[in-house]
Amino acid sequence: MSGYRCLVVVGAQWGDEGKGKIVDMLAEEAGLVARYQGGANAGHTVHVGDEEFILHQIPSGILHPGKRCLLGNGVVLDVEQFFQELDGLIARGIDAEARVGISGRAHLLLDYHKRLDHASEQARGPARIGTTGKGIGPAYEDKIARRGIRVGDLRIPERARELVIEAASAANERLRANGTELIDPARIADQLLERRARILPLMTDVGLEITRSVAAGVPVLLEGAQGALLDVDHGTYPFVTASTTTAAGAATGTGIGPTTIDSVLGVIKAYTTRVGSGPLPSEIDGELGIRLRDLGGEYGATTGRPRRCGWFDAVVARYSARVNGLTALALTKLDVLDTFKEIQIVTGYQTDAGLLDEFPDDLSLLEGARPVLETMPGWESPTQDVRSIGQLPDRARRYIARIEELTGVPIAYVGVGTKREQIIRIG
Ligand code: GDP
Repeated sequence: MSGYRCLVVVGAQWGDEGKGKIVDMLAEEAGLVARYQGGANAGHTVHVGDEEFILHQIPSGILHPGKRCLLGNGVVLDVEQFFQELDGLIARGIDAEARVGISGRAHLLLDYHKRLDHASEQARGPARIGTTGKGIGPAYEDKIARRGIRVGDLRIPERARELVIEAASAANERLRANGTELIDPARIADQLLERRARILPLMTDVGLEITRSVAAGVPVLLEGAQGALLDVDHGTYPFVTASTTTAAGAATGTGIGPTTIDSVLGVIKAYTTRVGSGPLPSEIDGELGIRLRDLGGEYGATTGRPRRCGWFDAVVARYSARVNGLTALALTKLDVLDTFKEIQIVTGYQTDAGLLDEFPDDLSLLEGARPVLETMPGWESPTQDVRSIGQLPDRARRYIARIEELTGVPIAYVGVGTKREQIIRIG
């Protein structure tokens, strides 16, 4: 991927596709990297040499010297966790504070949002969403209910205090209704205002910075969290996250016009995973599923939860290509399939309404869907040291070509391991 002005990197499945590593790689050529949605529920894992970095809110571009890293208005900023992450990077010798900027329009995520998250999941009982418990949903609820507190509100401390007390008191009403322990609004306001002096210098107009960067010919990367199938509108609602994860959200979530974006890279695993509840038509039950999970290390970076695993789902991939307007794919974790004798691809769903080859909006159809599988022979040889497409086993190349054919999107990168250099660049 070169020659772009403004590139969105988006998860093409249910998240955890390995976006962190791809953004880290692409950031080398970009001048600016911005996150456009989500909060500390994201967990990007990046390996640099022998070091492992887990980033929750700060774009993974921060690991490259000199890169400007911004958090757009579409993000909900978990203040405490943000500073923990920033201090962690500083302690490891990274000059993060000088390079991070936060939109004045981004909403703050405070302690009571986490309490509300737990309380509402508990109240849902078996119908719970399986959220990460980080308060993301309640923070977006407050934003839409117009009682949210924005980073820019910290400019006037008295005003910020009033807003926090108002919003925290409203949270207490909901906690009381749930029979949960209440919070102390004044304490939350004090805690936030203690952070004020450190937050204000980081505040910036993210849309303006991006627009200026693009105009100056400096490439911009817009980084999404989670994945397209968790998008609040286009995902498997209600088992979704609370924000617009798809590529169009990169414009509203940073404050640029959609025509500023010229390329969209979908990061997609060579198989499928999902964490939390909700339909997963490609899910593999039993030992085979567990083997895929263990080989792929499919345990959440934020929560440690085991992920559900399935074969590559071409129906999902095609849908994702369409709703995101993907111009290229980064196929990750091909190496995880190295030892399988046979590999399957889901090409359709058999449902009560007949055979589907387009992803439906009707969850009840998905829940009862039986996957239509195409079987391909596995390559049964290691790929971790392969660096060019020509060196890949024939059968692996055929698998890649089949995915391109089924999705209609060219594959620009193939991931063959966790390390920065374990990537095949195509074209
Ligand atoms: P993200 O949120 O999309 O960045 O995904 P996560 O960080 O939660 O999960 C990706 C995991 O897969 C991380 O541990 C990465 O180091 C790892 N990973 C990324 N690309 C590859 C790859 O091509 N092969 C293997 N084996 N692991 C990879």
